[in-house]
Amino acid sequence: MLEIIKGVLNPLRAGARLLRSKAITFNFPPTSPLTKSFRGRQLYNPETCRNCSLCDRVCPNKAIEMVEREKDGEKVLQPQIDFRKCCFCGLCADICPTGSLQLTNFPFLLTMKDEMLVYSPEKLAEVPELEHPKEPKIKNIVSWARSRSLWVLFFFTGCCFIEAVPWLSSGFDMERFGLLMAHSPRHADVLIVGGYVTVKTAKRIMYLYQQMPQPKWVISLGNCPMTGGTYWDSYNTIKRIDEYIPVDIWIAGCPPRPESIGVAIVHAIHAIQNGYTGKKEEVGSQKEMKVPKIEQEIFTNEEQIFIPFGPQHGASGNFHLGLNTVGETVKEALVYPGYLHRGFEKLMEYRTWLQNIMIVQRICVLDGAPYELGYSEVVEKLAGIEIPRRAKYLRVIQAELSRIQSHLLNIGLVSGASGLEAIPRIAWGDREKILLLLERLTGGRVY
Ligand code: SF4
Ligand code: SF4
Ligand code: SF4
Repeated sequence: MLEIIKGVLNPLRAGARLLRSKAITFNFPPTSPLTKSFRGRQLYNPETCRNCSLCDRVCPNKAIEMVEREKDGEKVLQPQIDFRKCCFCGLCADICPTGSLQLTNFPFLLTMKDEMLVYSPEKLAEVPELEHPKEPKIKNIVSWARSRSLWVLFFFTGCCFIEAVPWLSSGFDMERFGLLMAHSPRHADVLIVGGYVTVKTAKRIMYLYQQMPQPKWVISLGNCPMTGGTYWDSYNTIKRIDEYIPVDIWIAGCPPRPESIGVAIVHAIHAIQNGYTGKKEEVGSQKEMKVPKIEQEIFTNEEQIFIPFGPQHGASGNFHLGLNTVGETVKEALVYPGYLHRGFEKLMEYRTWLQNIMIVQRICVLDGAPYELGYSEVVEKLAGIEIPRRAKYLRVIQAELSRIQSHLLNIGLVSGASGLEAIPRIAWGDREKILLLLERLTGGRVY
């Protein structure tokens, strides 16, 4: 009993100490590793691997492919990981009977060519190391000025949003790079697309991209816009954002850590200083894009006025309503749902209990822990499993911390939308402390 009380009180004491401490300011460039507990890139040991393919079979995102290699004169199968798909759930490492595949705490996976994110067994066996971008030669004063005054348009639909938010906060402080948040695409130089993209949302993204002036750059954040990520088999999400708009930098992760966004931004700044003006060859080739050009709503006649409401989500819209009105009378209300629909019920039908946890966590992008808790309790009840008491307490603590961080996020969102710019910076800066605690408890900041 005493042990249980100690086990619960210790993390609570550590949490209280952290929350009482001053605001955190993050160093940049980041040192690696950032924390001990983060679930990051795998490290593979081909010497101890039994080539059993269990890691491949357990992976919920089909991120692992067994590829043929020669070992001691024999052909064997070894894992290759596609980090454009991996959600760092850790199931492959958990199931590996020999410990040949282990998660490290390395989070930086970004590139200008997304195929570089497919790691062969040989590359997986290399100890990961962060390479900081080298200072470039400044081409001319225009490119230097451009690189230091980038205005960023955030377009977020899903969970990746909550790991970009820290850059707006006091802790990460994107203004130190000369970056400002643009409130209109017509003022923006950089578009960051983060999170899963549904078919309807893709149209909005194209619309925004078309309105941005030249030169413009696009950063794709997280695995969903690269391959569909966790929703690789969803019927309502698109699998490659670059089939619709050109992408300059890909950041892998699910979600990527905020530090990775900073590294990507520094890469972009250096490339722009060097004279890079985005993927020009693709600009203006909208006719080749697969989604048809956006049609504007048309007023049918002088008496009748069409009033669109939404999509009202901060980025893309959960819901869009169109009202046909005559004078002050609403004649017809047209509903356009499905902007964020991923069809997770359908996807969960044929995944295993364990594989479904990755989807359940992501149902609510702001506060996933209570969903995971409810789901786990149901599975345990069905299977007749009784978990230790200490685990029960820790789960509740995790769910509470997750709830508090989601409230801080929302306080910042609501006050920011009301024009109180200082409050999001403070609230999201304090939220970092809770994310640090969650990371120590679970290995993930958000999931
Ligand atoms: S998604 Fe999970 S199981 Fe698949 S490779 Fe990534 S960590 Fe391993
Ligand atoms: S890494 Fe582990 S699970 Fe994967 S094939 Fe080798 S021994 Fe099996
Ligand atoms: S599922 Fe992963 S990659 Fe997709 S939006 Fe959520 S965190 Fe980002």
